[in-house]
Amino acid sequence: ETLDKGLEKSKESFFGKLSKAVAGKSKVDDDVLDNLEEILVASDVGVNTTLKIITRIEARVAKDKYVGTDELNTILREEIAGLLSETNLGNETDFSIPSDKKPYVIMVVGVNGVGKTTTIGKLASQFKKQGLKVVLGAADTFRAAAIDQLQVWADRADVPIVHQEMGSDPASVAFDTLKSAVTQNADVVIIDTAGRLHNKVNLMNELTKIKRVMQKVIVDAPHDVLLVLDGSTGQNAFEQAKQFTLATEVTSLAVTKLDGTAKGGVVIGISDQFKIPVKYIGVGEGIDDLQVFNKHEFVDSFFK
Ligand code: GDP
Repeated sequence: ETLDKGLEKSKESFFGKLSKAVAGKSKVDDDVLDNLEEILVASDVGVNTTLKIITRIEARVAKDKYVGTDELNTILREEIAGLLSETNLGNETDFSIPSDKKPYVIMVVGVNGVGKTTTIGKLASQFKKQGLKVVLGAADTFRAAAIDQLQVWADRADVPIVHQEMGSDPASVAFDTLKSAVTQNADVVIIDTAGRLHNKVNLMNELTKIKRVMQKVIVDAPHDVLLVLDGSTGQNAFEQAKQFTLATEVTSLAVTKLDGTAKGGVVIGISDQFKIPVKYIGVGEGIDDLQVFNKHEFVDSFFK
């Protein structure tokens, strides 16, 4: 229910426009497909993924000769769920983590302003609520504000944080954090990193170094590289996904600010284009406004 609420704008936009596009039409024809294409692009599904969906529906229309507009919902649902299935486990209902990794190390990447710190705080709170012992690492040492902000969220979630001075070596902070987590017998470590995209080589080097140094403490760390993207920024989110996947091996996504956008389609396009599962979605600024991404609920919220 909260998901529906969070995604209300996406729903209104997508479903509302779709209904208008087929109003007065009984069958799917070129007009309807053109409109659908526009709606999908306007919902930030992305051009490639939109074309993929349209092509599949065209093929279906060609095969079945007549496809009623009343069927279009069902077909679209299937197509979208199909695209999400290719990358998403999508059946998760809670914030569980694998129990065979202790501590489980999540390295969080993303550019400033996307909601990285907020997402880390929300995640820490969810893990803590499950009774897990969480440690945060402030390895975004580039801005003093980043360390302070993470501290604020650590206090809010009531979890410890490891940090050094601004300007110190991020890899050294990550190393200290893992050492401390091992000593404390922690269950989860969440490492914040700086996301300065303007220098791609630096970004790649920095993330590679952080990983290498973490592996001195925990040989297979990080277990998850979580890229945070702002779901309200459309093409920027696609571009950031591209840059970060070039810089490091991203293993999951958090898409934030889906409460404030009419463009939740970015979730569909990005999982399709990058074949990386969306694990979490942000639907507000509060500590509880993070949800585990469930593809069935997501698709439902689009079409209800
Ligand atoms: P960072 O620079 O990437 O660490 O970004 P912050 O975590 O500081 O977040 C930037 C702004 O986005 C803050 O004002 C947050 O409250 C806001 N924000 C983060 N996640 C969400 C979300 O899911 N929904 C909304 N509406 N705002 C969010």
